[in-house]
Amino acid sequence: MVGKPAGHGRLVEEVAALYDWIGGRLRQESGRIGRCNACGACCDFPSYGHRLFVTPPELIYLATKLDVDRLSPMPDGRCPYQQDNRCSIHEHRFVGCRIFHCRGDSDFQGELSEAAIKRLKSLCEEFQVPYRYWDLPAALNAFDVKQE
Ligand code: SF4
Ligand code: SF4
Repeated sequence: MVGKPAGHGRLVEEVAALYDWIGGRLRQESGRIGRCNACGACCDFPSYGHRLFVTPPELIYLATKLDVDRLSPMPDGRCPYQQDNRCSIHEHRFVGCRIFHCRGDSDFQGELSEAAIKRLKSLCEEFQVPYRYWDLPAALNAFDVKQE
């Protein structure tokens, strides 16, 4: 694979299209999303009691948008991109962050997540990026876009 973030241009475009699609589905099914008051509690994973899994295309997308090779490490359970209780990378956030709403319809979220993961897997095949379904702390601590 090409070793610079800029070399992932087409993959990044495909991930952007996937994010647009997810946004469209969320708008279409607005009654099932559930309200979010942006309290930020779900970005502190151990305290909230859940986990976030991410894939290489999402990480490559974020690294490209931030123009970095390495992402911020995650030494504790809170996402390092949460600043002052807000998501500092909202526009570039991961699939799970887009879909999860604590008061939403979990069946709808499950269906949407499944479709998104299927697409991310197929992007890995198409762009010859090894597929991984990574727990966020492990992903942020190990990911290096030059290795992808
Ligand atoms: S989804 Fe729920 S826990 Fe997460 S920020 Fe929104 S209101 Fe808070
Ligand atoms: S990327 Fe943003 S929304 Fe997702 S866990 Fe981190 S701070 Fe929360």
